[in-house]
Amino acid sequence: MEYKFATRAIHAGQQADEATGAVMTPIYQTSTYKQESPGEHKGFEYSRGTNPTRQALEHCIASLENAKYGLAFASGMAATDCVLRLLNAGDEVITGDDLYGGSYRIFTKVYQQLGIVFKFVDTSDVEAIRNAISDRTKLIWVETPTNPTLKLADIQGIGRLTKDTGICFAVDNTFASPYLQNPLDYGADLVMHSVTKYIGGHSDVVMGALVTNDRQLYDQLWFYYNACGGTPGPQDAFLVLRGIKTLHLRMQAHCENARVIAEVLNRHPKIARVYWPGLPTHPGHELAKRQMRGFGGMISIVIKDADLTETFRIASNFKVFTLAESLGGVESLINHPATMTHGSIPKETREKAGVVDNLLRLSVGIEDVEDLIADLEAALR
Ligand SMILES: *Cc1c(COP(=O)(O)O)cnc(C)c1O
Repeated sequence: MEYKFATRAIHAGQQADEATGAVMTPIYQTSTYKQESPGEHKGFEYSRGTNPTRQALEHCIASLENAKYGLAFASGMAATDCVLRLLNAGDEVITGDDLYGGSYRIFTKVYQQLGIVFKFVDTSDVEAIRNAISDRTKLIWVETPTNPTLKLADIQGIGRLTKDTGICFAVDNTFASPYLQNPLDYGADLVMHSVTKYIGGHSDVVMGALVTNDRQLYDQLWFYYNACGGTPGPQDAFLVLRGIKTLHLRMQAHCENARVIAEVLNRHPKIARVYWPGLPTHPGHELAKRQMRGFGGMISIVIKDADLTETFRIASNFKVFTLAESLGGVESLINHPATMTHGSIPKETREKAGVVDNLLRLSVGIEDVEDLIADLEAALR
């Protein structure tokens, strides 16, 4: 039987413990497992490759993405690294011009040196992707919504381009979370999550994940997952299993708070621009309605006529929002992308993508929305 989302968030991958009946998945704090005779074991040999707590979480995340296979990594970047290891010198990757800074860094500072070619295009334009494809293209890596200007990419449109071409189409689904968007259903081959963000949801774990329905791709990824060993420990897997049980409730609250805040900011005289896919004026609004179940908790704003000093002053003036990198936790965060999350991107490149000095990014938490609005209004004053 196919259960619905909330039921899977709470139960998928998890059965009462065989040995004791424990309802919650135990933290299997072990590196190794007893074998009855050499090679005869219960499916677990060594925890770099397989661990029962981590496996329960991998099954749960895969289930929430309507995927057959899931892999958990020590961070989102370790997951991304595992995908890039599938490539060889001369291969080409098409990706977005508005990317998470760490993704831009691993592409340009790690894998470009090894002879892999990265083409940065506007992924909200399917034609731009089509025009960038060559017979050397092996991977298309898309964020939707993008970070931080929340541009939408048409997953189904890109999926049609890559179907039966041998090109792997991967979506970084961190900003939407599996509750709001399931890219595999629209033709993506692979989904990456920074589990650190909404899936974990409590800003207490760094973790990543990959999910796919493609057995061959899974086997190739599993090889590097085990060979290179960027896998997380069982304590962290347990914390995420705990967090994921409320993913649906948290996402509903994030979306609702963000809606109220986006509308207030959209009318605010000190705000020149609000980026939130739920606003009818957002260029990706119609697409968001088609491929997402809600508009998410991330909002970016441009402060009117503010220079860097003024923007810093506002960013440092919050009492409920915390000035910090990261996103997706229950608590509200504010971030200055140009100097924080996107500091590793050259100024000219980032300004072209809209990451100007007076842009602030909000990760709207699930506190009382009246308190969040009062905090924003006071800081802007
Ligand atoms: C945070 C983030 C990552 C990297 O994940 P880590 O868990 O920090 O390694 C990748 N993509 C996006 C969109 C992110 O927000």
